[in-house]
Amino acid sequence: MPDYGTRGLENTPVNADCRFMDETMDTIYDVAVVGGGPAGLAAAIAVASAGARTALVARRMAYGDNRTTALLGGSIDLLRQLDVWPRCEAEAAALRVMRLVDDTGRLIRAPEVRFSSDEIGLDAFGYNIENRTLMVAMEARVAELANLMRIDDEAEQVMPEEAAASVTTRQGQTVTARLVIGADGRQSLCRSAAGIGVTRRVLDQSALTFNVTHDRPHKNVSTEFHTPHGPCVFVPLPGNRSSIVWVAAPKEAERLKALSDDELSEAAERQSHSILGRIHVGPGRHLFPLAIERPARFAHNRIVLVGEAAHVLPPIGAQGLNMGLRDAADIADVVRDALSVGEDPGSPQVLGRFEAARRSDVLSRTFAIDMANRSLLNDFLPVQTARAVGLHLLGAIGPLRRLAMREGLAPSWRRSRPEVSETEVGRS
Ligand SMILES: Cc1cc2nc3c(=O)[nH]c(=O)nc-3n(C[C@H](O)[C@H](O)[C@H](O)COP(=O)(O)OP(=O)(O)OC[C@H]3O[C@@H](n4cnc5c(N)ncnc54)[C@H](O)[C@@H]3O)c2cc1C
Repeated sequence: MPDYGTRGLENTPVNADCRFMDETMDTIYDVAVVGGGPAGLAAAIAVASAGARTALVARRMAYGDNRTTALLGGSIDLLRQLDVWPRCEAEAAALRVMRLVDDTGRLIRAPEVRFSSDEIGLDAFGYNIENRTLMVAMEARVAELANLMRIDDEAEQVMPEEAAASVTTRQGQTVTARLVIGADGRQSLCRSAAGIGVTRRVLDQSALTFNVTHDRPHKNVSTEFHTPHGPCVFVPLPGNRSSIVWVAAPKEAERLKALSDDELSEAAERQSHSILGRIHVGPGRHLFPLAIERPARFAHNRIVLVGEAAHVLPPIGAQGLNMGLRDAADIADVVRDALSVGEDPGSPQVLGRFEAARRSDVLSRTFAIDMANRSLLNDFLPVQTARAVGLHLLGAIGPLRRLAMREGLAPSWRRSRPEVSETEVGRS
């Protein structure tokens, strides 16, 4: 497994912002991370653990929505190496079976497809956890790393220059670093500062998220109902609880969000065909307008992009943050290698290595998810037939099933790398 340099840092003193304030102005950091969502915190922990002197420009605030993340493939391995996973694993639910159910009610319907992790020798495909819980664990790790300096503010300006880039915060503090990691989400300031354009397609779909309790156990089965407007997914949480991501036309999603608790419970039970028995919705509902975003490149002018600054996808196949965590792992690898030979981590050569590491993973997954979504929404009979046949083949042909399961977890070329070893996920 790659060493993110965590050894020897376990007992380092807890970082205190004030201790570093005086240093900030004259220090040139190896890396400045902008943005404190899950991708930004993971990237900051990973690069600091790889030995980089790191500044994190991110406002400290409670996580704002009730999304959960199905962490797949190498994500758990990475979080374990970064000493994040042991702090939150007790609050995650194992995902052992994935069911895809055609609930389109159309003339040509696909047969149900059921993937089981034991078919590919794993104890679980991954784990579902509330983002809020994951963020608390990440924040605790951020606070421990002595070479990770936190600036509790937002970046107002990012300026790439010849020898370094500067990040100026709203309160006027300036941090200089040789490499900036833009983890500042969809409206990325870092992406604009790098001069990287983005292709954006707004979808005629919104996702409603809420969490529920139910009478029957989920038995660690995640079930995805494919409706003509998008998937409605029931993903296990610990106990008799599940998180729901319900993709619908924007007006329908608004209508669902406005229902009373009893009405939404009933609607969710109907949509689930009562597989979980009686459903009771918990507090908190959030609506996410869906889009697909793809930047022209992933690195330029001393700036690299990670997380939603680098890719926005509809929530199909639980890929978004899993890709964001691979971004974090890859930038940490690239920075560690550069620092070990005295290379400038923001040089065009180093940025080129990150671009090469990320490009095919992000572009191929964005394409696959876009196609899966389009095929669901398409009313054209031949497209529905092709989709049904495709799913039938996936369900019926063993090697194809196993390939699909493995590719869903992580790209095949990446599985040969030790940090995404499936056996590690299987053992947990
Ligand atoms: C309904 C839904 C369900 C999903 N389910 C899954 C799933 O099961 N599995 C999965 O892998 N993915 C899933 N995703 C995707 C996943 O949620 C996202 O990929 C992930 O949350 C993105 O994290 P991020 O850190 O890149 O962005 P964000 O969470 O948007 O974080 C960006 C951060 O940057 C900060 N910021 C912005 N500008 C600045 C600035 N100028 N200075 C400083 N900070 C700044 C923001 O305040 C924010 O904190 C889902 C997405 C949706 C919508």
